[in-house]
Amino acid sequence: MWRFFLEELGYTAVVSGLTGRAQLNAGVKAAVDEVCLPVKVFLGHSLALTSQCEALLIPRLVSINRKDYICPKFMGLPEMTKQVVGEHLVMVWKSEKNCALGSLPALPPEIREGFSYRRIKKSLQKAEATFRAYHGLLQQGFLPDEAERILFEGAEPRREDSRRRIGLIGHPYCLYDPFINLDTIGLLRRYGFQVLAPEFFTPQRIEAELRVLAKPLFWTLSQRIFGAFRLLCKEKVEGVIYLSAFACGPEALIGELIKKEAKASGLPLLHLDLDEHSGEAGFVTRIEAFIDLLNRKRRLSCV
Ligand code: SF4
Repeated sequence: MWRFFLEELGYTAVVSGLTGRAQLNAGVKAAVDEVCLPVKVFLGHSLALTSQCEALLIPRLVSINRKDYICPKFMGLPEMTKQVVGEHLVMVWKSEKNCALGSLPALPPEIREGFSYRRIKKSLQKAEATFRAYHGLLQQGFLPDEAERILFEGAEPRREDSRRRIGLIGHPYCLYDPFINLDTIGLLRRYGFQVLAPEFFTPQRIEAELRVLAKPLFWTLSQRIFGAFRLLCKEKVEGVIYLSAFACGPEALIGELIKKEAKASGLPLLHLDLDEHSGEAGFVTRIEAFIDLLNRKRRLSCV
């Protein structure tokens, strides 16, 4: 959405590339020890962009739905980034409360400067339409890389529904970064699985699943993970892999809830913690062992 919006206004949007060892090391070095792995990765990407552009647009997401919140480390991204790259480089997009995507006051004044109200509004509307089209593709079962190719490169939408299905849950920045998760999606695809992630479900379906909880979950992303797990049980996936981030506070709670749900439903669950020292051999072996278990279960159910 942001890339589309900025390009509509005539800016050149520079998007940081894929995560690599250099970004991760730079982020780890710049961050305080207490922050989670994704924030370290974020800081590494921010540092990599400083030599390529005049300013960094950083979101301050606080609450995007009524009565639930984004985690404090996520909220603090602009401040943490300012410490690392310098205050003068950071422009903040602030979604103070129940933000609407195309909210005009949320935009940093530096971006609005020199453009009429009408032009900004129109560009925001177009960007929002792209965002919705993108999410529409995710809800049809395409993963972000496929949705981007369809939307931006005009690739032919092709979905293979007949393959075996497996669920993958976690925060989007853990699921779709092939460097920090050692290309879990690629590995599962090579084993012939169609991967279903939380973005496959509409917010309304997720919300309906949360009604089973005695007390509402405070964190938006935790709600999505919990609701998606319950929906994946109903979608009859063969098993679920849960990728959590090292040093993530909200996941300490949601991890326990997911374990309880998995036990109650009997759905095989593999919980993997991602950190900057994740070694490929051990990580891949655990996923392969989980796939072996699913294969055995499948063979037994056919007998
Ligand atoms: S939700 Fe967890 S992983 Fe995400 S920013 Fe917060 S602490 Fe980090």
